[in-house]
Amino acid sequence: MLGLLLPHRCAGCDIPGTPLCIDCAAALPPAPERPPPAHLDRCLALLAYRGPVPDLVLRAKNGGRHGVLHPLGRAMGSLLLGSEGAPAWVTWAPTTAARRRRRGHDQARLLAGGVARATGARPVAALRRHGGAQAGRSRQDRLAGPGFSARRRLEGATVVVVDDVWTTGATLSAAARALRSAGVARVVGLTLAVRP
Ligand SMILES: [Zn+2]
Repeated sequence: MLGLLLPHRCAGCDIPGTPLCIDCAAALPPAPERPPPAHLDRCLALLAYRGPVPDLVLRAKNGGRHGVLHPLGRAMGSLLLGSEGAPAWVTWAPTTAARRRRRGHDQARLLAGGVARATGARPVAALRRHGGAQAGRSRQDRLAGPGFSARRRLEGATVVVVDDVWTTGATLSAAARALRSAGVARVVGLTLAVRP
């Protein structure tokens, strides 16, 4: 609630007046290219997960600075437009219900809102998550990925699935598998950051 009352502060350096200042935005490292995870046709990322990015992601997720997620989502949308064009639909890999309750928001959903705004794609809550969080699980469990099921059919469409950090790709793969089972023809991943 407090975040609604206070003016924005930069998620990188705390100066007031903006969710992300120009100096901090300029210091963010661009993403390297990586082959897409299984079940995705393509996967794009905006930033490399190094330098100031891990701290930025952490503060946006947990530190009450989620105001920065919408402009970052719009930047992800611009990247998508330049590389892939506008998709019909944009969805996200939902976080666990427990985390959503604790944080008061779903960071992937907020990023997807920015992507939708920038591209004109229709946002859709296409996925339901089963089971717990990826972080804190064993490597083997993480590689198996979380469980997702589709909430609706999206026959023949191109769908962009948004997540915050692309690490093993297991979350994106599991999300893409569920989307394909719902009739989606082309799945493009789009993440805020990728681990090199
Ligand atoms: Zn700053």
